[in-house]
Amino acid sequence: MTTLGLHRVGVESLRGVGPQLAVKLKKLGLYSLQDLLFHLPLRYIDRTQITPIGGVQPQSEVVIEGEIRASDVVFGRRRSLVCRLQDNSGTTTLRFFHFSRAQQERLKAGTLIRCFGEARRGKSGIEFYHPEYQHLDKDRPKSLDDTLTPIYPATEGVTQTRIRDLCSQALKKLDNQSIDELLPPLPESGLSHQLSFSLVSALKLLHNPPPGTALNLLACGEHPAQQRLAAEELVAHNLSLLRLRQRIQQQKAPVLSEDVTAKNALLEQLGFTLTSAQNKVASEISADIASSVPMLRLVQGDVGSGKTVVAAMAAVQAIANGSQVALMAPTEILAEQHRINFEKWFKPLGIRIAWLTGKIKGKAREAQLSAIDDGSAKMIIGTHALFQETVLFNNLGLSIIDEQHRFGVHQRLALRQKGFDPNSILSGHGSAPHQLIMTATPIPRTLAMSAYADLDCSVIDELPPGRKPVDTLVLSTIRRNDIIERVRASCLEGRQAYWVCTLIEESDVLEAQAAEVTANELKLLLPELSIGLIHGRLKPKNKLEIMEAFKNGAINLLVATTVIEVGVDVPNASLMIIENSERLGLSQLHQLRGRIGRGSQASHCVLLYSPPISGNGNARLKIMRETTDGFKIAEKDLELRGPGEVLGTRQTGDMQLHIADLQRDSHMLTDIKLIAEYVLINHPDNVDGLIRRWLGHSEKYAQA
Ligand code: ADP
Ligand code: MG
Repeated sequence: MTTLGLHRVGVESLRGVGPQLAVKLKKLGLYSLQDLLFHLPLRYIDRTQITPIGGVQPQSEVVIEGEIRASDVVFGRRRSLVCRLQDNSGTTTLRFFHFSRAQQERLKAGTLIRCFGEARRGKSGIEFYHPEYQHLDKDRPKSLDDTLTPIYPATEGVTQTRIRDLCSQALKKLDNQSIDELLPPLPESGLSHQLSFSLVSALKLLHNPPPGTALNLLACGEHPAQQRLAAEELVAHNLSLLRLRQRIQQQKAPVLSEDVTAKNALLEQLGFTLTSAQNKVASEISADIASSVPMLRLVQGDVGSGKTVVAAMAAVQAIANGSQVALMAPTEILAEQHRINFEKWFKPLGIRIAWLTGKIKGKAREAQLSAIDDGSAKMIIGTHALFQETVLFNNLGLSIIDEQHRFGVHQRLALRQKGFDPNSILSGHGSAPHQLIMTATPIPRTLAMSAYADLDCSVIDELPPGRKPVDTLVLSTIRRNDIIERVRASCLEGRQAYWVCTLIEESDVLEAQAAEVTANELKLLLPELSIGLIHGRLKPKNKLEIMEAFKNGAINLLVATTVIEVGVDVPNASLMIIENSERLGLSQLHQLRGRIGRGSQASHCVLLYSPPISGNGNARLKIMRETTDGFKIAEKDLELRGPGEVLGTRQTGDMQLHIADLQRDSHMLTDIKLIAEYVLINHPDNVDGLIRRWLGHSEKYAQA
């Protein structure tokens, strides 16, 4: 008998699913019975056993049974009915804030009841607020549930009971209809333990855990059945990126051979020699782009490690071969700064630069667009405006994304999708451009393997010589006036300083306001200094003027929002004050602090905080004081905040993991990568199914 795979059986086939419910289910991404089976419970409640009252732990959801020993209406801040419930192991308190006279009557002393609820630590020890309860009859014991009760992800217009019913119908079909085991038996793998669980038994267990299932393991996602599915999900994510890579690399890219003359001409412009780390990475890129297989390379380098020059080296090589190069930055300020640098380096080489951001409009925009289109501009710098429909490249051979961590995975892939679509207006002659992606967020290796499974990685693991590590102080705002004095003294000695105003809300407007208030206050207190103000709400022209004035020393003290977080490079600035530093994440603090310590004089960073400070906040600031090593900071950040924050919420948000957790499961990631590669090569027919099963409709973006 042939059976239909459950991914082909629609939810409509289930009892109780009419057209209306089917529409609602589809909105939740639940199309087939397979989708339902992979709609896994978020957590479970245990109504399979009775917990002795004396053994109830706070925060646990339990069933208890006992006799009501006392029942009183208490008049406190709120009127409540308070019952003492006792069994032979102890007593506990039940509190009801809403109760009827009849209820009060039925909960009088001497009554036997069974309750279900969450135990909390209250005034009188363990308490239950509004537990569910049933009356018991000594002679006719009530039965308990025989499986744990799953709680499914909240679903609009579809109740728990409904989802539970649908899932249990789908589970019944599992016995005589098939769900494909898409992870093939693997040769020796570090995950043999995780993968020893069969898919079917894992699904059955997770929807319907039998009594005695280790709830504590389930609660933290470490049950072998969960680990089995988490491993498969991570493999599926890896595969979607690997397949994207494979598709891209099947296309042809222009061969951009090494050009020693052009390279030396650039090196002469620089005024410094490259570090050996820069040289190493530059030659990896040079070899990549000299091949017709599109390069897909991520360059990781801590703030200040000198990534721009490495990008410029790749650009001259491409341009020497007649290609155009696009360089995209996440903010206008950074794009402008790149333009200034590249103009300085490339003008003497006779390379024309085009410049495009969202704010460039009208005639100016037309002029830039036509220089890009007719190929007279070879180096094109801008923000993501570069990847808009109206931009026609003439012959794009290399595209560079700077400070990638500021864009999400989704955005990165979307951009790439445009860049690599052979029919796309972007690729000019129908060939795929080489891709270089640069990021200053050092990502722990295992995380990088998952988030960037589609990229080769290079690391610039050395800073240019002569840098002095930034000395970091952590001070309470009570000392703010002392700090202002210190800024005065430093600036009068010719040093330059940043004063960074931060807010926790991602609001340009509020941040700008806060910075304005601070700037006015500092102008009053420090009349002898020239004080500038920069924030995201200024016109691009003003921003540029202010950055220029700061760069050439006309401004002593620059009051700024976190807009200066990426890319801003003023080597003479050697003092930075960050207000409300306890509210920022480690990576962001590290990026900000990376704006100083770029010159040869000793630099100081003052992290101001408002007491009282939380334990976690304190731990973060302590790390900032102890180290300037971006990788160490990233590891700590991961420990303190989890991968969502480290990769940027956008990025993990886009990864939409159902059951896996990058941090909890990080020990699997090395093997996951190997397994994904193995499946891709040896079982290519399984790839589609795995990706569809786990990424479903969200996989759209990962298609080249
Ligand atoms: P990031 O990696 O943070 O993007 P940048 O490319 O902005 O770093 O470089 C930081 C500063 O270091 C710039 O002023 C740049 O000119 C300078 N720089 C880069 N490489 C070297 C080097 N090998 N020697 C000296 N200074 C360098
Ligand atoms: Mg940079």
